[in-house]
Amino acid sequence: MREKFNFSNKRQRVQARKFLDKEMLYWRTEFFLKSWVFRIITEEERTTPNEETCIHIVTQPNPVYKQAVMHVWFDTDGDVSRLELEEIACHEMLHVALSPISMPWEKLLKQKITRHEMDFVTPLLHAPEEGVCEDLAFILVDRRNRNRFLKARLKGFRPKKGQ
Ligand SMILES: [Zn+2]
Repeated sequence: MREKFNFSNKRQRVQARKFLDKEMLYWRTEFFLKSWVFRIITEEERTTPNEETCIHIVTQPNPVYKQAVMHVWFDTDGDVSRLELEEIACHEMLHVALSPISMPWEKLLKQKITRHEMDFVTPLLHAPEEGVCEDLAFILVDRRNRNRFLKARLKGFRPKKGQ
């Protein structure tokens, strides 16, 4: 399995999307989100590179109906590693898992305050969640990969019968 996906290559973009779907499915199960309905849409490729990463995902969860829509953009002049995709999938699923906490606040505030005030409040609401998702995704993916590594090592060094 390749370590990096080069987005200038269409075949590798398709492979990256398949890998992303597989990872999303894993974290969806881990976070008990099996009853949710997901729609993951690949948008038109962009050529303007995003400064942080070459893949951009906008997740819109609806905790009332347990539905989430995810829009995925690939920057065709960049590449992304398997590890980055693992963390991105975990990060986006965490947004969905946290949405029953964050979404009602946002909805309520939109009804009570002006658009101008909302512009001020929105970053204050989103920034802490972004930080939590970022850190948790890093920790969870790292733990999962360490366990994989340990399992592989144990398999390789299993003592023979009689030892
Ligand atoms: Zn995020």
